[in-house]
Amino acid sequence: MAQEFRTGIGYDLHRLEPDRKLIIGGVELPFEKGLAGHSDADILMHAITDALLGAASLGDIGELFPPTDPQWKDADSEVFLQQARELVVGYGYRIVNVDAVVVLERPKLLPHRQAIRKNLARILAIDADRIGLKAKTSEGVGPCGRGEAAEAHAVATLVRDAAAKLM
Ligand code: MG
Repeated sequence: MAQEFRTGIGYDLHRLEPDRKLIIGGVELPFEKGLAGHSDADILMHAITDALLGAASLGDIGELFPPTDPQWKDADSEVFLQQARELVVGYGYRIVNVDAVVVLERPKLLPHRQAIRKNLARILAIDADRIGLKAKTSEGVGPCGRGEAAEAHAVATLVRDAAAKLM
């Protein structure tokens, strides 16, 4: 049966501020600053959520979970990713893979990479080997390089039987 592959892209940036937790991919990294935002500001989960929604042309995270809605204040971003997964699965898609880059000057992400991949795999209900995760610094320049912000970029590939489009 013919299969339809679709790719989506997601991007997010949040400011780094004192007195906030630094949560990336659902894992808390010990650091003097954390990501500021209405939810827990998990840049990686937000970027992957948008990549999934984008691949299926289902809008974006801001439409589905408006920051003006008090129910999402300090929300665990796992909820956003979980709901995006349920949406695309509901449209007949299977997640082939996710790949992501986190841009963060400090602290080092690498020691947490496996824990983050494992956590994302659990939420997305796919094997961890379908999740790529890289960390980059910004060479000391720009908001990420100065430690004022961190950002994440993600792509996701979905597949479904072409016949599913008819349903
Ligand atoms: Mg965000």
